[in-house]
Amino acid sequence: MTLRAAIIGGGWAGAVTAHQLLGAGWRVEVFERSDRVGGHSRAEVLNGVVYEPNGAHIFHTSNREVAEFVNRFGLVRPYEHCVLTEIFAHEDDESPTLLSWPPQIDELKNLPFWPTVSKELESLPATPKGEDFETFVISLMGETLYRQFIYGYTVKQWGCEPSTLSSSFAPKRVDLRSDNYRRLFRDTWEYFSPVGVNHVIEEILRPVSVTCGAELDVTDLEDLSRNFDIAIVTAPLDRFVGRDGELAWRGVSMRSRYQPTDNEADTVTAAYVVNRPSMRVPYTRTVETKHASGQLICGTVVSEEYPGSPARHYPFPTVERRYEQANQALKIEIAGSSPLPVYFTGRLANYQYIDQDQAIAQALSCARDILEQHK
Ligand SMILES: Cc1cc2nc3c(=O)[nH]c(=O)nc-3n(C[C@H](O)[C@H](O)[C@H](O)COP(=O)(O)OP(=O)(O)OC[C@H]3O[C@@H](n4cnc5c(N)ncnc54)[C@H](O)[C@@H]3O)c2cc1C
Repeated sequence: MTLRAAIIGGGWAGAVTAHQLLGAGWRVEVFERSDRVGGHSRAEVLNGVVYEPNGAHIFHTSNREVAEFVNRFGLVRPYEHCVLTEIFAHEDDESPTLLSWPPQIDELKNLPFWPTVSKELESLPATPKGEDFETFVISLMGETLYRQFIYGYTVKQWGCEPSTLSSSFAPKRVDLRSDNYRRLFRDTWEYFSPVGVNHVIEEILRPVSVTCGAELDVTDLEDLSRNFDIAIVTAPLDRFVGRDGELAWRGVSMRSRYQPTDNEADTVTAAYVVNRPSMRVPYTRTVETKHASGQLICGTVVSEEYPGSPARHYPFPTVERRYEQANQALKIEIAGSSPLPVYFTGRLANYQYIDQDQAIAQALSCARDILEQHK
């Protein structure tokens, strides 16, 4: 008997589970809320220029299985991601100084506040500590660098004081370097698709039946149970059960503007991603995808990233892990009332601040579990 799976969401997590189950002989259907698959990672085109309306998406991983998986679907173009950050070294500086992100000790030595920073660094613990984000980061880089590079960015990004946030995401996102290694990531594999990773996701989904424009919720599980043996949910669970607000999310909106250029290779900002931690600037960073895509075209698109939109982009990392617990309770509630077995995978359904490679790894593992349980 052919087993059948309904998959809710056509981002990485939905596409990868669909592919794996189809390959194992299942009948699979993906239901996607928006009019195209690709999820958060989706790129778009404005006046011929590829840009990223959901923020910069660099694919990086040290997971061989994940790297080989995406290679099979055409994500192979190597890329080295380097980020810049703009700081105002003096309160009254009119123009900012551009530095590497993460900060490099050699560059910091040229700044007027280096003597203070140097003293602060001498008194730091051997390994950073702290339950909350602010304590952890100050113990990693000292107060002065924290104020210059981190505080404003974090307040803008999360809309709250950094001392109220969990430090759980800090080790992956914040660093201070003395090795002159300028790439942001230290992963074994790093790729950038010149046309956007949604093309890779579309390729993965090519043999799968996909219905776009279909937002499913918990009440649809009854209907699904008539035609499917299991459901896989990659959607945010508060909205899925019709109780917006039960989980906290932080969204960003990208204000993207086309700018003409004289030559095909021209760009207008200093790097693909430039962080703007100063409170003088209302957004957190600029993204100019052309740096990474290498697209040769007159014109470019620069996007300013403004936090505070209602989109469900980032799970909210409180110190007490309040919403992770609420998400767990939602999973139990949905599974308990569902007429068919339900599985949860991906960034939204699991309410986790994870990258694309981790979403893929989760989906591969979810598919393995399903195949094991439905032999
Ligand atoms: C601003 C930003 C920058 C990022 N930068 C990077 C980066 O540089 N590198 C990196 O690796 N990762 C990055 N990420 C993370 C990356 O976007 C995610 O890890 C990845 O997209 C998660 O895939 P997913 O399938 O779990 O979720 P999504 O991509 O969100 O896919 C979920 C899909 O489900 C659909 N859906 C939702 N609800 C329903 C419903 N009820 N019914 C039907 N369909 C539904 C959505 O429309 C969407 O298509 C970034 C994320 C953000 C927000």
